[in-house]
Amino acid sequence: MSTKPLLLNVRSRDVDCNQQKRYLGTELNCPISACLLLISLPILIFDTCIAVIKGKAIFDYALKQDCLGRTVQYQQFSSGIFKGLPMLWAVLTKRISLCGMPVDIKLNKQQIERLQSYSFISAGLFDAVTLHQASGLATNEKSELLIQQFSANRLGYCSLLLKAAITTFLYNNNKSQLKTPAVFTLFGLKINNDSMTDAVDWVMSDQNIEQDTEQKLKGCKTGCFVNVNSVNLAAVDPQLGVNLNAANRSFADGSGLRIAAKTLGINIKDNLNGTDMLPHLCKAAEAQGVSIYLLGAKPGVAVATAKNLLKQYPRLRIAGAEHGYFERTQDNNAVERINHSNAEILLLAMGSPIQEKWLEDNAPHLTCRTALAVGGLFDFYSGHISRSPIWMRELGLEWVWRLMQEPKSKFKRYVIGNPLFLIRTFVFNRASRGF
Ligand code: UDP
Repeated sequence: MSTKPLLLNVRSRDVDCNQQKRYLGTELNCPISACLLLISLPILIFDTCIAVIKGKAIFDYALKQDCLGRTVQYQQFSSGIFKGLPMLWAVLTKRISLCGMPVDIKLNKQQIERLQSYSFISAGLFDAVTLHQASGLATNEKSELLIQQFSANRLGYCSLLLKAAITTFLYNNNKSQLKTPAVFTLFGLKINNDSMTDAVDWVMSDQNIEQDTEQKLKGCKTGCFVNVNSVNLAAVDPQLGVNLNAANRSFADGSGLRIAAKTLGINIKDNLNGTDMLPHLCKAAEAQGVSIYLLGAKPGVAVATAKNLLKQYPRLRIAGAEHGYFERTQDNNAVERINHSNAEILLLAMGSPIQEKWLEDNAPHLTCRTALAVGGLFDFYSGHISRSPIWMRELGLEWVWRLMQEPKSKFKRYVIGNPLFLIRTFVFNRASRGF
């Protein structure tokens, strides 16, 4: 079967004018790419010279497919730096767009059908789905996200371009060169590299025997989220590391872990944090009639969370909601109340390292199917703390928002903790390469 480079032959005049549709912002492609090409002229000359000196062809070509199955020819320098710069020429000559249809992203039949009416939009260097994937935001509604992208105005186009350029620089180091193992270890902590769908399925599953480890569980299965804060805490509190590794599943939470994993050549599938996971869990629990128990946070917060969840998911079964400020001698009573409620999923929101230790001590006595340590989750869903705007999450900067909201209590965690984590990542990386 011949692979015909369709897109290269598609010029703006071929666009079906009857559709009267326009992707606002694409008229910025030419001026932006022309300026960038002009600025990068020294690099273009440098890369050409390097190829000539090495006696190699100046350009490499590759054929890729956009999500509608159209073939796109990619051209890059064979040697030198910023090898992808020739793609700007393809933008200038209107063969591709700066922001457009995603390339190398698989969509299902329904999603492709939904996007057929946007087939006048050519493949892009950047797109909303790739942006979400680069920063690890779980994206189930890919076609929805793309339709939003294509309906944006010029400002939306520029903002996508800027965000995509930043995230590509920060997080997306050519995924094809990264491995995606099912489980890996980072700073001595085990991470299960699950997608959001896999993680939710695992939480909902009523199997109490871990098939992969053949470990027979006493009590319920346990899940934790590993983030920059847990890594920093575990570095000075080895017991937290032991407790995290004892959990049956540990999910990678946040852009910090993504950066650290990338330096080890590992691609993290999805950014799995409790806040993003909860809506998926509630939908699944509502559909399957599974009940949830909320334990943790200050008095009143778990109850307020339960009320808010019931407004959104009226058929959700909340088995109980109570605060997390009690003496450890009272743990047995809490376990009894949870078991008595016949809850199937326990969400434990006491923050690290308390919640991980609590699970280690009490999970063997719980009769629910899964207990998940979710940190400050209830503070968000009760409305006590607002979530960061989506653009901050897209850039992996949710922590900046939390710092702005609680500057005193989060100062140590973020202002000291984040640079410390980056230093740790650098040292860990050097050490694993033998310095
Ligand atoms: N918390 C609790 N019991 C305690 C200490 C803390 O229930 O003994 C709660 C606290 O009120 C907050 C959560 O645990 O709701 C910790 O939130 P944090 O933002 O520190 O957690 P993260 O999500 O960052 O792990």
